Amino acid sequence: MNCDDSHIYLPAYLDEELGVGECLRVQGHLAECGDCRRAQDEQLALRSALRDSDLYAHPSADFSKRVEAAVRGAAKGEARSQRPSWFQSLRLESFRWVPAAAALIIVTTIGALLVMNSLRSSHQQFIASAVLDGHIRSLQPGHLIDVPSSDRHTVKPWFQGRLDFSPPVPDLSELGWTLLGGRLDYVDGRPVAVIVYQRRMHNINVFLWPNHGSPDDAIKQEDAQGYQILHWNGAETAYWVVSDLNNAELLELARALRGH
Ligand SMILES: [Zn+2]
Repeated sequence: MNCDDSHIYLPAYLDEELGVGECLRVQGHLAECGDCRRAQDEQLALRSALRDSDLYAHPSADFSKRVEAAVRGAAKGEARSQRPSWFQSLRLESFRWVPAAAALIIVTTIGALLVMNSLRSSHQQFIASAVLDGHIRSLQPGHLIDVPSSDRHTVKPWFQGRLDFSPPVPDLSELGWTLLGGRLDYVDGRPVAVIVYQRRMHNINVFLWPNHGSPDDAIKQEDAQGYQILHWNGAETAYWVVSDLNNAELLELARALRGH
């Protein structure tokens, strides 16, 4: 089992919905993968946070009374119509559940919002680990560059016909970033462009693809397995920068790329 499979199986694993075989495969992967153990910890933390009693909104007695009064008023109006009496008693019986139902709706809404947030961030986590995998793969001999050139006028046109978008390839040599070239990679189910820069023998992979979401220029940073991962969403392009270069210099590069 690899990390992608583990991400897919993890929720079912935590819900104890997997068969013995799959369960053992997930456990085996978790035993040897720190990233997936962290994902597991995050999901467990979210689950326990959702059980936090602070999230449960209990309607005040006054609110419940007003809801009941409103419902009884409406019921009286309906009682004058010719509904069968068993139906009336059933409905009156159900009023007891109104406060509970109101609380349930509030709790469900808060829960759904939290889950949506966590899905968004777990998708980001998924992409972060995919670009990190891509970076590590690129460090294998012969995998870093498909089009070796320090000339942006060679690198940029090389992507034409290979991708359905034209990636920006800025020349940042005056700022001390040597352009090594570009390559195609595959992230989150789609081919993406990678522009490779270098500084003091540190390779920097800049993964690019069109940003279809709303732009968010704030540069997010995280480190994983000794590498730095920087990310932001430009107006047209989503950027993921990965390297073992130090954080401060990478932030410099990110700002230079963002300025282009
Ligand atoms: Zn894993």
